Amino acid sequence: MQQKNKYDQLRFVLVETSHPGNIGAAARAIKTMGFGQLYLVNPRFEDALQQPEAIAFASGAQDVLDNAKIVSSVKEALNDCSFVVAVSARLREFSPPVLEAREFATQFAAFAVGNTALVFGNERYGLPNEIVTSCNALVNISANPNYSSLNLAQAIQVLAYEARMAIRTSVDDLLTMSPMSKIGFSGELASNQQIDGMYEHLEQALVKIKFLDADNPKKLMPRLKRLFARTQLEVEEVNIIRGIAKKMMEK
Ligand code: SAH
Repeated sequence: MQQKNKYDQLRFVLVETSHPGNIGAAARAIKTMGFGQLYLVNPRFEDALQQPEAIAFASGAQDVLDNAKIVSSVKEALNDCSFVVAVSARLREFSPPVLEAREFATQFAAFAVGNTALVFGNERYGLPNEIVTSCNALVNISANPNYSSLNLAQAIQVLAYEARMAIRTSVDDLLTMSPMSKIGFSGELASNQQIDGMYEHLEQALVKIKFLDADNPKKLMPRLKRLFARTQLEVEEVNIIRGIAKKMMEK
């Protein structure tokens, strides 16, 4: 995979955002910190990017609004991403590894190879569990335990600022083991789309051998997804798992 400029590698994905003003303020936060990728998954208003409040809050970051992409599923926003991070005010019992905003930023700056996505929830409901459990990590911005929910655009500003500061910092002393470390042997990272294909294949195979009961699936697939999400799968590894699934289905 070709190494891109770090500022082009961070994508801000906003899920079901209600207020166009927040979208404008997000564009501004993203641009002031030197980033540019903004994706909106099913915003409440189809024309959110043209709404007067979005334009007013974006101020001089109109270009980020103009280049923003509106998509109809989280999957679509993440297809070409190799590391996906849920950003949430709420810690959950069933969750990928939790990172502080600064920890995420240092690891991103030091080790990210492909596109990395930060996924933000809706103003009122936050992020649904299904999205959180399929992410590689969860970032929580440390805040007052009695009042920890930041405004959406302000949460984006904090992450964008931390990512900028981390990119500016020397990374020589960070070359330790980390989920995002690329030291030693490494193959091409699998994309989210490739990994989703693997999950579908594996699920079919598990049903076929009656390990998974389609009528009573319990938490098997979410658990397996969580396990794989901790590993930073490579293309070759995805192919191996799919090969195993294929053989299982032939039996
Ligand atoms: N009421 C919602 C919060 C919505 S705030 C809830 O309980 O989840 C809108 C979004 O801003 C959140 O989905 C999250 O992406 C981000 N956010 C707000 N405060 C945050 C915090 N302390 N840490 C991480 N993300 C936060």
